[in-house]
Amino acid sequence: MAARAKRRLSRAQVARRQRADGRRDPAYLMWVRGQQCLGCGRYGCDPHHEPPRSHADWHDHKTVPLCRQCHDRRHAMGAVRFWLAIEAMPSTVIGALRASYSQSFASEPPF
Ligand SMILES: [Zn+2]
Ligand SMILES: [Zn+2]
Repeated sequence: MAARAKRRLSRAQVARRQRADGRRDPAYLMWVRGQQCLGCGRYGCDPHHEPPRSHADWHDHKTVPLCRQCHDRRHAMGAVRFWLAIEAMPSTVIGALRASYSQSFASEPPF
């Protein structure tokens, strides 16, 4: 019985996958998941991409911790209204998260 030919990806599909791979960082998403929700302080977050993944500029490093409820609120309200409501700037929050992520990997000072 002949094995079926492997599904061939078109050149455009391959390019799209490679672009997506450069933006993915599962370890970072896992870490964001463990942070406090920006909206209500709860733990157990579902990282939200800001800008969202439908946007050309999405990146896993541009995610913020939001619990399921606040995450739904963010999508319902839209970016401008949501960020005004929580009185924060996405770029500031994202920058602070990334700094604290890299600090969490800094080697411990010798005792
Ligand atoms: Zn929340
Ligand atoms: Zn989202």
